[in-house]
Amino acid sequence: MTRIFHDADAPMEPLAGKRVAVIGYGNQGRSWALNLRDSGLDVVVGTIADTSQQAAAADGFPAHPLAEAVEGADVVCLLIPDEVMGEAFAAHVRGSLKPGAAICFASGYAVAYGEVDLPEDADLVMVAPRMIGVGVRESYEDGTGFIAFLGVERDATGNAWPIALALGRAVGATRRGSVEMTFAQEALIDLFVEQGIAPALQKVWRDAAMVLLEHGIPLEAVLAEFYLSGEIERTYRAMREIGPSKQWELHSPTSQYGTMSRVDRFEGLDTAERMRRAAEEITSGAFAKEWAEERKAGYPRFNALKQAEGRDALMDLEDNTRALFEPKKG
Ligand code: NDP
Repeated sequence: MTRIFHDADAPMEPLAGKRVAVIGYGNQGRSWALNLRDSGLDVVVGTIADTSQQAAAADGFPAHPLAEAVEGADVVCLLIPDEVMGEAFAAHVRGSLKPGAAICFASGYAVAYGEVDLPEDADLVMVAPRMIGVGVRESYEDGTGFIAFLGVERDATGNAWPIALALGRAVGATRRGSVEMTFAQEALIDLFVEQGIAPALQKVWRDAAMVLLEHGIPLEAVLAEFYLSGEIERTYRAMREIGPSKQWELHSPTSQYGTMSRVDRFEGLDTAERMRRAAEEITSGAFAKEWAEERKAGYPRFNALKQAEGRDALMDLEDNTRALFEPKKG
């Protein structure tokens, strides 16, 4: 049975009197630090750059270089980009870790693909928000909370689960509910959305735009229909709020009939086969290896792909089109 944890399953006592070091003060780091402190924990922040150190200090945190922040901490939350975690951990964290400290990750990636050399006596726990950093803070403040995937990779002290649950609660992840997952499962689902679903959607939207343009629909109208109007966003919101099936009733009979009567036309597309390939590359570690090699080589393919996409020119076009639909006073 899949376990889903709520506040009632996650007492805060295991963290009473403990010090939590938040390493990194970026998207997740700042929100975690603020939420953990507001939940009554003793939080110190560790950063590399002076600007982040100043930002953390301005928010009232004791802010230190990484090694200093880690010293004496009972829990170390590694909230830095996954791709730099191995190097940063070896250079600044490992040597200062208190024996038996718990290390918390906001993603399973670095551990699942062996990117960090971790001490044997450390508990390894994961609270992986299904939410961007700003949302982690906002949903804590307004009391709605966010969903997360919660797991323990290694229970060295026998106390890893109570620590993971208490951290989850303190950061706001057990208010709505957190699903038990392994680090590898979290990494798979996360990367799968990026590599199995997002490219398929990108292809669908690109083909759809091309066909509409062929039919003489103005580009401004295409972009308005696809995302600027916010109509599709509202449909997804309705799915979350009332469910994918009930939200059908918000659409006209013409819309419902048109979609349902034509869904079979896309049955022949072998998207599942391509998605299986994506999942296989992720679970085998082939993607992690490819990405590590790409980083080591200085990102030649990544840069070429961005260049080929013409992202800068597209940004200008998108900015200009969005400006056309800004609310204006009559
Ligand atoms: P960010 O890119 O926002 O992290 C920036 C922080 O990392 C900065 O404080 C920066 O420090 C620090 N940093 C960057 N490079 C290094 C380095 N080489 N050594 C030490 N510190 C470094 O990260 P996120 O918050 O986006 O991601 C953190 C974790 O959260 C990741 O594991 C990610 O997968 C996970 N996550 C992220 C989500 C998101 O929406 N962004 C959602 C769910 C999980 P400085 O400013 O001092 O240079």
